[in-house]
Amino acid sequence: MMADHDRTIFAEVLLPLPLRATFTYRVPRGLASVLVKGMRVVVQFGRRKIYTGIVHSLHENPPQEYEAKYILSILDDSAVVTENQLKFWDWMAGYYMCAAGEVMNAALPSGMKLASETKILLHPDFDGDYTQLNDKEFLVAEALEVNQILTLTEVSGILDQVTVMPLIKALIMKNVVIAEEELKEKYKPKTESWLRLHADYEDEEKMRVLFDQLEKRAFRQLEALMKFLQLSGQNEAKECKKTDLSAALDGNSPGISGLIKKEVLLEEVREVSRLERFDNKAHPDEIQLNEEQSAAFAKMQEVLEEKKPTLLHGVTGSGKTEIYIKLIQQALDRGQQVLYLLPEIALTAQIINRLRKFFGEQVGVYHSRYNEMERVEIWNTLLAPDGLFNIIIGARSSVFLPFTNLGLVIVDEEHDSSFRQHDPAPRYNARDSAVVLAKLFDAKVVMGSATPALETYFNVLAGKYGLATLSKRYGDVHLPEIQIADLKEEQKQGKMHSHFSSLLINSMKEALEQKQQIILFQNRRGFSLRLECQSCGWVPECKSCDVSLVYHKGRGHLRCHYCGYTKNIPDRCPKCNGTSLKMMGFGTEKVEEELQIIFPDAVFARMDLDTTRNKNSYYSIISDFEEGKTDILVGTQMVTKGLDFDNVGLVGVLNADSMINYPDFRSFERSYQMLAQVSGRAGRKKKRGKVVIQSRKPYHAVLRYVMENRYNDMLQSQLQERQRFHYPPYFRLILITVRHKDQEVAQAAAYEYGQMLRTRLGDRLLGPEYPLVGRVRNQYRMQLMVKMEQGISFKAVKKYILECTDNFKLNSENKAAQILFEVDPL
Ligand code: ADP
Ligand code: ZN
Ligand code: ZN
Repeated sequence: MMADHDRTIFAEVLLPLPLRATFTYRVPRGLASVLVKGMRVVVQFGRRKIYTGIVHSLHENPPQEYEAKYILSILDDSAVVTENQLKFWDWMAGYYMCAAGEVMNAALPSGMKLASETKILLHPDFDGDYTQLNDKEFLVAEALEVNQILTLTEVSGILDQVTVMPLIKALIMKNVVIAEEELKEKYKPKTESWLRLHADYEDEEKMRVLFDQLEKRAFRQLEALMKFLQLSGQNEAKECKKTDLSAALDGNSPGISGLIKKEVLLEEVREVSRLERFDNKAHPDEIQLNEEQSAAFAKMQEVLEEKKPTLLHGVTGSGKTEIYIKLIQQALDRGQQVLYLLPEIALTAQIINRLRKFFGEQVGVYHSRYNEMERVEIWNTLLAPDGLFNIIIGARSSVFLPFTNLGLVIVDEEHDSSFRQHDPAPRYNARDSAVVLAKLFDAKVVMGSATPALETYFNVLAGKYGLATLSKRYGDVHLPEIQIADLKEEQKQGKMHSHFSSLLINSMKEALEQKQQIILFQNRRGFSLRLECQSCGWVPECKSCDVSLVYHKGRGHLRCHYCGYTKNIPDRCPKCNGTSLKMMGFGTEKVEEELQIIFPDAVFARMDLDTTRNKNSYYSIISDFEEGKTDILVGTQMVTKGLDFDNVGLVGVLNADSMINYPDFRSFERSYQMLAQVSGRAGRKKKRGKVVIQSRKPYHAVLRYVMENRYNDMLQSQLQERQRFHYPPYFRLILITVRHKDQEVAQAAAYEYGQMLRTRLGDRLLGPEYPLVGRVRNQYRMQLMVKMEQGISFKAVKKYILECTDNFKLNSENKAAQILFEVDPL
């Protein structure tokens, strides 16, 4: 357009920095028509720093306070971030009181944060054949022959053009250049080499001549050719994979390369997807909902029509998943995308299979344990016009994906606290964020749980959310029978075997005799194994955190669960030089070890952070258990959630008290949820299961509620408490942490900052106080809590807090103190 020439366009660029603003850059003339919101650009920030940012908006207003610099280069030929994503990021930064740049950092897979300092070099295998290159590509390749290595900014200079990424990508695809460091580890399409015969040799005479030649002078090539003809003869296209050929020849690759050099065989490099593919076998219409399920399904559709989020409150094993599947089908029929959020990836293994049975390859999976390349691939697939995935199953970070037509969000196990991200910022709750995300698309939201969060149920009671209920297990299997093992009493009577009550041991024996499987749950909190000196009581502690180190037998070391610091096991006590160091407490590893002695014939498996470091270990632990290869599964929190096994006769909770006694206003609710959830793994299909909970407080109310499945009574009693003591959902909380590496500075800063906040917040501000763990990674911490009653503006309070924070930081002594916000902390 003509007008472009006399207008200057400015771009607001979001940088990956913890700053609460975007920055204005000038768009070079001629590029104004190319550049759109959501593209990545390279800009200079400060004197020397170069960053990749995202264009947040475009306008014509030059900045008032500074001269805008030019955008250095544009990395994309189309937007990689959608408008709705930008809106979502803005909302998240505002609501959770962090920088939009921090949200952007969390949202983009790091494979997409291609930096302009990225350097490219000639591909080591490049043979100098320039014929395949166009003029500009040639210029770059030639410059690389001279300079060996170039940054993208330099390439931009050589070509005198701002958009260089498409060209670099083409060169990478042609195997002419490779990117050093970042690009190398970051996204690179996965490729396969295929071989086919040059058309000349379809002529029999030519082939005969070739054979003669090879027979005389190149026997290895002859061997390779014969094998090739055999393998390629097996398919229509008369081709074969280079790796297959090489494998068939026991690695005789010189033979293959010889044939390629002679152009007898032609090599073609093809991009392949890293994502697995599946075919679907069943249709959701085949699911026959029972009466209660049908009623719930109908009710949900009604409420969802009103655009209200709906809670599906269904006891464990009631068939919530079957209802989700029906709802997913409806969304797909409307041509919309579905996001299925799960709190933990331990669960995804089973859910993925259940959904793939119906929806096949439309199901994509996204979570942080996937490697970067897989993540970028999912991102790009979603952005593509006819993307493969219509259903994304993912943990919390999948709320950041570039949906284009989201129609339904399911938040399964919505009560779960792992929807919350703690560190780093944005400290968001994916369940609550999903509601906002859905609103941007006018999409429906379903939250499901057997033990809904108080906040969620409160929204139901307030009429903000709809409700559908499933009160019976599918197939009318009864909820499990729950028994409490009174540890005090058993100890008195001398019936305990180490940490195990006779009730538990006997129930285990019974279950094993009946060929039933067992799940044992040992929560981590406060019950891990530590070392203690028997003479002076010394306990090894982390050098940078105020916690004791946890003993890990498998790895033979002590480890800090806050910062990852590890230490070898000392022979002697460093304090008294004594040699009697003893293990105290018991973790999952110890449980497994001790039970192995009592049940020598049983096959054990353990599921905790240590045994599930990589993505596939979950799958194998779970599938071994599903297939009955394992008798007893011992685990932490991970085993409590949503898993659906057929043959679990017994669930044992080794220590309920550490949960119940945990000093937090949510511990009653949490204990109920955890105990009800883990109990829910017992006897789901065939017959009624049994649960044994070990405790020293057998009459504690929470245990009674769990035993009698009285969620509603638990809810009512807890809501009353929360109201009385001014906690959510009646009051809203912001937890503020002040951090500094010097303890005194941290304290002084927290008091000063607290004083400032108190001027207007008054006694809505509590603290500063020492948190449970006062020092983590050598940073001392103090905490303040803001409690807000209903009716005052949450927004205004946050704004005030941020203003105070800015003022507080004006004082140079306070600059080094870090202030972190957790809005709606869990
Ligand atoms: P929840 O998620 O509520 O704990 P699930 O969806 O896992 O319960 O259902 C428990 C079991 O019952 C699953 O194995 C599921 O396949 C089965 N089930 C539930 N509803 C149906 C149905 N309508 N038809 C067939 N099987 C069902
Ligand atoms: Zn000692
Ligand atoms: Zn530590």
